[in-house]
Amino acid sequence: MDNKVLVTRSSMPDFDDYINEISPLWESRWLTNSGVKHNQLEAELCSYFNVTNTALCVNGHQALECIIEALGLEGEVITTPFTFVSTTNAILRKGLTPVFCDINPDDFTIDVTKIEQLITDKTCAILPVHVYGNLCDDEAIQKIAQKHGLKVIYDAAHAFGVFKNGVSSAALGDASMFSFHATKVFHTIEGGAAVFKHQEDHNRFNQLKNFGMKGECLEYEGTNAKMNEFSAAMGLCNLRRISQSIASRRVAADRYRERLYGVDGIQLSALQKDVQSNYAYFPVVFDPETFGCTRDDVIEALAKQQIGARKYFYPLTSSLQSLKDKPIINHTPIAERISNSVLCLPLYEGLDVQTVDRICDTVLSLKR
Ligand SMILES: *Cc1c(COP(=O)(O)O)cnc(C)c1O
Repeated sequence: MDNKVLVTRSSMPDFDDYINEISPLWESRWLTNSGVKHNQLEAELCSYFNVTNTALCVNGHQALECIIEALGLEGEVITTPFTFVSTTNAILRKGLTPVFCDINPDDFTIDVTKIEQLITDKTCAILPVHVYGNLCDDEAIQKIAQKHGLKVIYDAAHAFGVFKNGVSSAALGDASMFSFHATKVFHTIEGGAAVFKHQEDHNRFNQLKNFGMKGECLEYEGTNAKMNEFSAAMGLCNLRRISQSIASRRVAADRYRERLYGVDGIQLSALQKDVQSNYAYFPVVFDPETFGCTRDDVIEALAKQQIGARKYFYPLTSSLQSLKDKPIINHTPIAERISNSVLCLPLYEGLDVQTVDRICDTVLSLKR
């Protein structure tokens, strides 16, 4: 028997469902550039998010770069270093300066009490990250942004299918970026989307992802970041089964919580009030003092049992080589501590409770 457990595994729709979805493409021979599947997925996502301006993209990273460009940002952007390197790369690649804010120790999102002290006359935007399916404190962020005339862009790569009091994560801020990468809760193999509050930004984004063209007018130096029909078709299939997919993740996540909650030296992610999570990841923070061994010891023990686990997010994006010796590096001690002690345990659709138990047994056997 193959006992190998990977840290993640892509959700797959029914094979026949996907074949049905793509078969008209042999007839139409329209494979990309705002095809039928692309437009249908955009419309269905608008309805799922309950928003009006959703634009599909070739991946989440390109969506973030094009959002930054669509909003015409320049100067400094307040963000967190506890994220995937894509967030910080997008800021840097668009010629902006990242200013790092620390995170909350309990839900790992931006610490809103530390944002204002980082604002200067060069600040143009706040770019916080929803982490592991936890949402940032949008109300507080919005207040600060309004007071100082800043834009708010969310990296919502982890927040597909997350709702607060029934409101989708996609409805927050001036814009949100979603990643539909194969490993995410909802995927289109590779893909992503941008959601905008304002129609003009949405229009500009659509132009930017198609070389900046508007008919024969070459208005911007755009890029090519369009989603193709096969990806959109995968999205249509996966969207039909999103609630069952999240429910399956929840069973595994609840079991982890049952087994690991309250263990001395183990900190689990806070359950946010009024937030319906998507159970995207199961992060565990190990305190080496009280748990008796380090995060890296846990990885090693799991690996011996052929169980994968991921240091995620590690290292902090503020350790990017290109940022060395720049004065913009703020000390973010909480992000540093979490990054050095967090481990994401395997979590995906279809992960069964017996396997979760086997993983927890291994983790708990290390407790000193
Ligand atoms: C996955 C991810 C991205 C990048 O998305 P891609 O679709 O892989 O380009 C950016 N930010 C975060 C937080 C992510 O998890």
